[in-house]
Amino acid sequence: MSNEIIDELADVARQLEEQLKFYREIGLADIGGAGGAVEAAAGAAFESLPPAVTDLAQPALLVDVAMPKKKDPVGQTSLFGDTAPDTEGAARPAAKGTPLPVLDVIDQSLEAIREDLGECTRCKLHEHRTKIVFGEGNPGARLVFVGEGPGADEDATGRPFVGRAGQLLDKIIAAIGLRREDVYITNIVKCRPPGNRTPERDEVATCEQFLFRQLALIRPRVIVALGSPAFQCILRTREPITRARGQWRDWNGIKVLPTFHPAYLLRVPEKKREAWEDMKKVRDYLSSLPD
Ligand code: URA
Repeated sequence: MSNEIIDELADVARQLEEQLKFYREIGLADIGGAGGAVEAAAGAAFESLPPAVTDLAQPALLVDVAMPKKKDPVGQTSLFGDTAPDTEGAARPAAKGTPLPVLDVIDQSLEAIREDLGECTRCKLHEHRTKIVFGEGNPGARLVFVGEGPGADEDATGRPFVGRAGQLLDKIIAAIGLRREDVYITNIVKCRPPGNRTPERDEVATCEQFLFRQLALIRPRVIVALGSPAFQCILRTREPITRARGQWRDWNGIKVLPTFHPAYLLRVPEKKREAWEDMKKVRDYLSSLPD
């Protein structure tokens, strides 16, 4: 057997081993699978969910991607782009001939953004919340995860992704060789929607500026959008996550990888395989970057 074939086999074996490890870690016992029919049905059901964020006519806060990562003085004018809603299937940054928006980082620190958020009463979500869940993690993170909104555990603790979905997210983070404290984790809305419903358009429109300011300030190398609402909010699209997952997108020069929300993976464990494919892309891209 030639050395080339031996190397190839070793590579395949290594990949299989990695994959098995991930499946074990995230609790996917039945690797043989529940069958394509189940997967297809689950995918179809997911796809038929109404877009969480429709007719996004609100402006996005964008960041000057051409500039070095320097903080502008607080209060300096921020530029808001024209962000008319996208048509189905056309994520805004990919639109042909559309130059990338150029906008400023307007905050000095995450603490300043948190301070500006204050004891927020800007939308009706404040009426039922216990604690604001701003986000947490490494302010210099190369990887940011964006979820939909706090659930009951997050509302009680003020921390993002600490419930069951959060435990799965922790395993996903570990599976790509990182620790929770290496990354930054936040949501599109900072207060729990009652009954864990999807945040409504006006709530997203009111709150998203804080997410965009967090992203602009951290300026990670990769944003992982967890689930449709996060993906559709960040990318100004109605494209379903089932179609977009695993495909690199762009938000102001930052790579965005849409993937399934961990809560969805808990409900439809067959999809963990695809989530792993997505997370491998993230891991490989991050490890290809210079330190
Ligand atoms: N689901 C989310 O989208 N965010 C959280 O913080 C927890 C669960």
